[in-house]
Amino acid sequence: ATPTSIMVGTGKAAESGILFKGGEHLERTHKLDAIIFDKTGTLTKGKPEVTDFIGENDVLALLASAEKASEHPLAEAIVSYAERKQLPLAKATSFEAIPGHGIVALVDGKEMVVGNRKLLKDKQIELNEQVEMLGKWEAQGKTAMLVAVDGQLSGMIAVQDTIKPSAVEAITQLKAQNLQVIMLTGDNKTTAEAIAKQVGINQVYAEVLPEQKADKVKEVQLQGKTVAMVGDGINDAPALALADIGIAIDTGTEVAIEASDVTILGGELLLIPKAIKWSHATIRNIR
Ligand code: ADP
Ligand code: MG
Repeated sequence: ATPTSIMVGTGKAAESGILFKGGEHLERTHKLDAIIFDKTGTLTKGKPEVTDFIGENDVLALLASAEKASEHPLAEAIVSYAERKQLPLAKATSFEAIPGHGIVALVDGKEMVVGNRKLLKDKQIELNEQVEMLGKWEAQGKTAMLVAVDGQLSGMIAVQDTIKPSAVEAITQLKAQNLQVIMLTGDNKTTAEAIAKQVGINQVYAEVLPEQKADKVKEVQLQGKTVAMVGDGINDAPALALADIGIAIDTGTEVAIEASDVTILGGELLLIPKAIKWSHATIRNIR
């Protein structure tokens, strides 16, 4: 490979918003066999909104007070929902995030447990037939959470994130480029599959804990594939670093950008098939 044409290639890519850290990354991009997408903030806008809440207003106030201490996008959605209803929020006196599962907090002397079924089961909170509602929400692509106050199931809430408008076309183009396309998320399996269907992805790894995301990249690499990982979050950083090509969404966290080889401006997913096209064109010119 002549360094000059690689330099021209990375320069041209940069003009359209694809920032390769170095020429070797452009070269490696042309060898990709598989591409793994994080869901939240990558395929979706990452700005979820509350769509459903079942429970009393005082439970919602406690729930939002607990979530105020969390930095998760789900938490932000819940807090602004309660604020719009002008509910008085208290300050949590203790708070713990359980990555991939939810939160535990103390608000007004009440113990709040908020998160998925697994978290509530782990905390020995009894679930009733009401939780069947969760499956219904999840089939619509919503993220559903259970709310317990002092060990009692007291509410359920659903939050929905919308897919990016260009996600479908980007996935279509990547498949046409003969790439195996996979979605990777910590979210529930039913929710993940509903979103995957909307964007046209048929291979999904769901309920993957943040620390296991890199293991999934490794798994695909061990199948003999050259793998790209696309992500935006702190929890994507190890997977982005391990992937043959890490692709960060610039609207995400600095940690994700640092761990990556390529950054895509404006979170525009169509730039990914474009980057692959650039790499093919550049390598073809060299040979
Ligand atoms: P993602 O990969 O989509 O960012 P996470 O791994 O962060 O998902 O979270 C996985 C699941 O854990 C969520 O779908 C939700 O059920 C639960 N969860 C995470 N954070 C919170 C929170 N602050 N409040 C309630 N539930 C949460
Ligand atoms: Mg994300």
